[in-house]
Amino acid sequence: MHRLQSQMIKTELAGIVGPEYVLTEEADRTIYGVDYFWVPRLLIDRGELPPLPDFVVLPETVEQLSAVIRLANVYKIPVIPWGGGSGTQGGIVPVYGGITVDLKRLSRIIAIDPQSQTVTAQAGINGFDLECALNEHGFMLPHYPASVHSATLGGYLAARGSGTISTKYGKAEDMVLTLQVVLPNGDIMRTLPVPNHAAGPGILQVFVGAEGSYGIITEATMRLEKLPEVRRFRSFLFPDLHSGIEAGRRIMLDRLQPLVIRLYDEPSTIKTVKRVLGADVDHGSYMVIGFDGLADIVDVQENIAYDICRSFGAEDLGEEPGHHWWEHRYDFYFPPKTLDMPWMFGTLDTVCTFDKLEPLYEAKKRTLEERYKKWDIFYYGHLSHWFPWGAMLYDRFIIENPPQDPDEALALHNEIWDTAVKINLEYGGVLNEHHGVGLKIGRHVRSQYGPAFQVLDALKQGLDPHNLLNPGKMGFGPVK
Ligand SMILES: Cc1cc2nc3c(=O)[nH]c(=O)nc-3n(C[C@H](O)[C@H](O)[C@H](O)COP(=O)(O)OP(=O)(O)OC[C@H]3O[C@@H](n4cnc5c(N)ncnc54)[C@H](O)[C@@H]3O)c2cc1C
Repeated sequence: MHRLQSQMIKTELAGIVGPEYVLTEEADRTIYGVDYFWVPRLLIDRGELPPLPDFVVLPETVEQLSAVIRLANVYKIPVIPWGGGSGTQGGIVPVYGGITVDLKRLSRIIAIDPQSQTVTAQAGINGFDLECALNEHGFMLPHYPASVHSATLGGYLAARGSGTISTKYGKAEDMVLTLQVVLPNGDIMRTLPVPNHAAGPGILQVFVGAEGSYGIITEATMRLEKLPEVRRFRSFLFPDLHSGIEAGRRIMLDRLQPLVIRLYDEPSTIKTVKRVLGADVDHGSYMVIGFDGLADIVDVQENIAYDICRSFGAEDLGEEPGHHWWEHRYDFYFPPKTLDMPWMFGTLDTVCTFDKLEPLYEAKKRTLEERYKKWDIFYYGHLSHWFPWGAMLYDRFIIENPPQDPDEALALHNEIWDTAVKINLEYGGVLNEHHGVGLKIGRHVRSQYGPAFQVLDALKQGLDPHNLLNPGKMGFGPVK
């Protein structure tokens, strides 16, 4: 964009949000080109800039945000929503430049309703701030992603997130009752007053998981839970991953409502459980399981579930390691525990039904370890989000010494992702379970959906004919 036009637009943006809330310095804009996607971090590490927005604006009201979007429509420039920037998929990377809207000033709690047990809050509120405020009223929003200190309510919903205790309480999409959304033409809309109805299809969920492609979420009403009377954890060591999966499957299908089941494969049991849980084990498959709620009910659930674990040959390792994990569950978001440069890494997670779980895991492990042996790839995983039909495989790769040349490194990175994603789809999984699609795996959306992609595309064409909202993501192309 030429400086002349850029100055014109900056003047107009400043007229909407105030000059101090329009950022155009390169240092400011650089922050908004990087999330936890490995690629922009690689570029910065190698002395290059990732794509940057032309402007960063911080609206204070929904009306200001709407006016910014209307202005973007006049000039046909992209608008990229930014929550906390904790995403792992490059969803905030402004591939075609444009206006990044940082939503952190839209952070008010509008109402807590103790009678219906709901909270209505603006989308830019920080997850940890929201949780602390709810705890003061005896409630919790039981969505605890490891990134809770950075992520926002809007980001939870935009990326269809799963917190660490989703196995009992559900994913973000299960907790949302209503949304306020600013559409790509600037209109401000609301979904129906309740999520479960027979008043036509559920347009609420159209915006959940859309990563800003169909609109910007500005407010949400979420279901709350009471703070539990008790919350307890236990650890078990299974002879192998298979017996752990079978025990977990039984616990889920018997509807025992565990709070969490974290089942580690053998490489993680040996290499990462010590780091994560402080427990020293050298074989088998480690499980942390927990229950919470009313003490009498938890007693019964624990007794039945732990008998199931023992019946699959698991050794009971007591309560301490699980509590250790719970107390330290957010540590992995911060250095030195978080993965970062100079390593190449990625979380290749997927979710599938129980019958497909082991073949999918085996195929991915075998293929990646054989194909990238030269790079000494380390592949490991655990199952951390369970459903009454299947489980999420949270698996990762690490290459400690990736190529120095950025083009070579990028090619290797993308090839590993293509290999892993194709296996996820071929074996009956999906593109992703809780990190979203973003830029990273947007090129695979069409393969995932097949003819159903026309539904997503028609919605995009209808709502955003010029493709202004977060272009280049979710398999949608550039501005038209
Ligand atoms: C170390 C680490 C651990 C993590 N652990 C978890 C975990 O346990 N569970 C989990 O679910 N995720 C986890 N994540 C991923 C990430 O934190 C989540 O996806 C989170 O929900 C993103 O929220 P955010 O506000 O930071 O979104 P951002 O990163 O700012 O944005 C994510 C995407 O959503 C869009 N977006 C943001 N806000 C809005 C809005 N209001 N309306 C429309 N679109 C919007 C953005 O444009 C982008 O495409 C982790 C990430 C890291 C780095």
